[in-house]
Amino acid sequence: MTMLKVGAATDTGRVRSINQDSKLVSDRMKIYAVADGMGGHQGGEVASALAIEALESSVTDPTKEGLITRVELANAVVFEKAAGDPDLRGMGTTLCAIALVDGPSGSDEIAWVNVGDSRIYLLHDGRLEQLSTDHSLVEDLRRDGQLTDEEAAVHPQRNIVTRALGLDPEVEVDDGTVVPYVGDRFLLSSDGLFNEVDSDQILATLRRLDDPKAAADDLVRQANDHGGRDNITCVVVAVVDDGGRSATASAALASGEGPGLDSRTEVLPAVDSNGDSGDHAGFDRASAGGLPPASEDLPFGRSTDDLYSDLDRVKRRHFTGRVLAFILAIALVLGVAFGAIAWYAKRTYFVDFAGSGVAIYQGQPGGLLVFDPEVKVRTEVLRSDLNDAERQAVDGQKTFASLASARTYVNNLSAKVSERQDRTATTTTSAPSTTTAPTTTRPGGTTSSTPTTAP
Ligand code: MG
Repeated sequence: MTMLKVGAATDTGRVRSINQDSKLVSDRMKIYAVADGMGGHQGGEVASALAIEALESSVTDPTKEGLITRVELANAVVFEKAAGDPDLRGMGTTLCAIALVDGPSGSDEIAWVNVGDSRIYLLHDGRLEQLSTDHSLVEDLRRDGQLTDEEAAVHPQRNIVTRALGLDPEVEVDDGTVVPYVGDRFLLSSDGLFNEVDSDQILATLRRLDDPKAAADDLVRQANDHGGRDNITCVVVAVVDDGGRSATASAALASGEGPGLDSRTEVLPAVDSNGDSGDHAGFDRASAGGLPPASEDLPFGRSTDDLYSDLDRVKRRHFTGRVLAFILAIALVLGVAFGAIAWYAKRTYFVDFAGSGVAIYQGQPGGLLVFDPEVKVRTEVLRSDLNDAERQAVDGQKTFASLASARTYVNNLSAKVSERQDRTATTTTSAPSTTTAPTTTRPGGTTSSTPTTAP
């Protein structure tokens, strides 16, 4: 049987006047959660409190699916409340939670769920892993490769969330399960912690302080020491007994018969020595020194309208990016197709009349789309020079694969025409004459004609 020991702490921080974070520690149901509310007036406070209340009061099976259902119900509660009260319109909240649930094989599992940019970490075997993925603008841009880890760490809009409870009738919930082993520690926190305290410090604190309550208190203290620019909430859940699962797994690992303790962590992004999880936004935001000045203008402290405009801007930017990519892809395809048609249209030559003469055209007879044939070579062969068969042949727009072969054809045609014209001329000049006498040259250089008469 799995036994858990839990400690939690929350604080308004050093800048904000109210604490819009809420948390759940239900030892009876073994559900633990953190919610970070947003929205003007009292909206943020109400949203996070409503979500936690709904998460706790729902009745579902102790399974991962049951936990997801609780989150969906919590979303509906916040959304309906916001829709029905003009003062609370647009309020929303992040929500991350873990629960001890029945796994498919009947053994204990820790199920986790997440919406928004609060985080769930797991300390296992001396390593800190972030189980959840931040639903934030900066994380999206970083994952798309539009921001480096370094740029993301200091991005002025890194507090803008892209998913939250209460903004739509339905919500998409990230989820997962982990097999709990004795010594494991889960940390749920709002961004007021990890924007001030880097992952190395979080890891060191969890290692140093065994007691969950002491660890939670110390993490909140550290966040305040680093500025406390936001509300800070930490829930630390320690696995103090796993019913011998750890020993069994270790024995199996030693004998080579089973997957061992670490098999479950293979799918989880590990945090490296720089505190970067690889698949997740960097943990070193605060230590990078790029936090903006403390201000009530941060997204979580902003009015509802600002929040909506932020979300709209994020959606618009993503939409615009996708549309641009789509248009570029279409343009590329059309460009390639246009080039191919142009190449095909111009790769052919044909012979036809251009006015009264024979010419060689480049292009397809009749043209192709916008590509009309062009006269490439004009010849001196005239329509009137051709016989009927030749005229018909030229009218037939005979095509050629190259200019050279078209020239050969026209040259042959020209030769036939010349031959015919020569023959005609010869026939004309060899006709008998009775009017012109042959001339002779006399000595002395004078020329005289000697009349001749026919016999
Ligand atoms: Mg916050």
